[in-house]
Amino acid sequence: MTNKSEEFTFQSYSYLINEFLNLGYSVVNFSAMNPLKQHLILRHDIDMSLEAALPIAEIEKNIGVKATYFILLRSDLYNPFSETGLKILKRLYDLGHEIGLHFDASLYSENISVMNNKANIECELLERILERKINVISFHRPSPRLLNIEGPLSGRIHTYQPKFFKNIGYCSDSRGGWYYGHPLKHSSVLSLKAIQLLTHPIWWSRNIGLDPIEVLDDFREKKDKLIAKTISSNCDPYRNSRGEKPDSLREKNR
Ligand SMILES: [Zn+2]
Repeated sequence: MTNKSEEFTFQSYSYLINEFLNLGYSVVNFSAMNPLKQHLILRHDIDMSLEAALPIAEIEKNIGVKATYFILLRSDLYNPFSETGLKILKRLYDLGHEIGLHFDASLYSENISVMNNKANIECELLERILERKINVISFHRPSPRLLNIEGPLSGRIHTYQPKFFKNIGYCSDSRGGWYYGHPLKHSSVLSLKAIQLLTHPIWWSRNIGLDPIEVLDDFREKKDKLIAKTISSNCDPYRNSRGEKPDSLREKNR
């Protein structure tokens, strides 16, 4: 990226949120949003990396704002129920944030009663493991048919209901860029109206701006190291052959 202000870093995320506060915005969660007020909803969809959420959550805590982090249950890229995953989710709560279900409807039939049932099962799983209520759902990569569904899903609010999506401002950092416009230049922000801001922490969790492909390569390298460590912890011949250090956390608990 050439334009510094368009770079995605810790510093620019912090700057962005502070700019909203300077404009007079109050940061609220989905349940508390009033479309007639100058409200900002901070939403994070965790598509790839749970680890990337933590430093962003810390920044928000330091600024004094609360966000909602949406977690996939059936991703091949992370496991919210693993020792590390659960630790991160509990830390998000400790920092004052909310957790919602990131629901991949493409895994199921797009029939509304099937989706209600499956979303309910996924929310209940998350509730049991976190021992907290899950009040809000966001669809992962929704097909156009799933946008602007009026009613709730499994009795819970969802982020693409018209009241959060069509009737207020909406801005997202999809694919690591502001491809649909910068949030501070959004018409709702220019007229100081309510807006939902969706960001994906993986794009922001660094001190130096990288292009999206570099971000994803970096993520893959870190993931590969983690896999090597985990295999070493579980298989002595591999550890002896590759000289990998075992996963220290697991070793400690043995
Ligand atoms: Zn997603």
